[in-house]
Amino acid sequence: MSGDVRYYFLERKTDALDIKTILRKGTDILKAVNNQSAVTDSRVILSYVLNCGNVFLYSHSDYMLTECEMKKFKELIQLRSEGTPLQHITGCQEFMSLDFTVNSNVLIPRQETEILVETLINYANNLKTTDKIKHIKILDIGTGSGCIAISLAFYIKNCYIEAVDISGDAINLAKHNAALNGVDNRITFILSDLFEDIGNNKFDIIVSNPPYIEKKQIDNLQTEVKDYEPILALDGGADGLDFYRKIIGKAVYYLNNNGLLAFEIGYNQAKDVTCLMEQNFSKIEVIKDLDKNDRVVMGRN
Ligand code: GLN
Repeated sequence: MSGDVRYYFLERKTDALDIKTILRKGTDILKAVNNQSAVTDSRVILSYVLNCGNVFLYSHSDYMLTECEMKKFKELIQLRSEGTPLQHITGCQEFMSLDFTVNSNVLIPRQETEILVETLINYANNLKTTDKIKHIKILDIGTGSGCIAISLAFYIKNCYIEAVDISGDAINLAKHNAALNGVDNRITFILSDLFEDIGNNKFDIIVSNPPYIEKKQIDNLQTEVKDYEPILALDGGADGLDFYRKIIGKAVYYLNNNGLLAFEIGYNQAKDVTCLMEQNFSKIEVIKDLDKNDRVVMGRN
């Protein structure tokens, strides 16, 4: 089924095509494999190939592509139709209105994670005025692309951040992203398995979006997640809660008095994570994302 459309396209003689026509062909190929955002994906890929904005595609719909541009577009549409995430094709993802470079070593920043970052920005801004803390010290555990740490550093001007990850490749990419967004002077990236290599420092806020998918659910994730994103960043162990247990158990030793521990959670984990936190934390709050799913659990020590 899908193959027919694709092969028709790929083996068609390379007569020059204009933007409008090639966009339609790209869209058809993606629709044939049930891509739910075929129109947008096709446009994003063509913008990437032509190194132009979306507006150019509308205003120059009769622009004839060069052979090289057509070849590149076809290759990338093919990759997308096979399941490669769009962000691995373009190499970037926007998060909190900032640009991040992404690759297969890190989780692609998700829109639902913005609620965690927004909550912490509000919290930190209130701290500044009420407690007169000069510098807010934040620890981000499992930083990945660095999207949480970097957005916090960008929007909270008086904070210093330590960001750790067990993956050296992730740390390298996060460093690159921090420089890209001009906040590398306020974040220290550390290769560390959770708290193992962070020394004796104490923090006002500890934040983490840890791997939280139940091991047996990994096979049920969409192809573009399970085959392209790092399992290391997804697998939360048998019940999905391994990292919450480990972090909650140690966080108290690394938090200043009345410090905050804040997690992203899976939509069905609020009860379990709240329960784990109740042993060492108070004032526990659960916050929903824009889809009205429970997405953040946080509490004070
Ligand atoms: N939200 C991600 C997903 O649904 C998982 C993120 C995580 O495990 N921290 O794929």
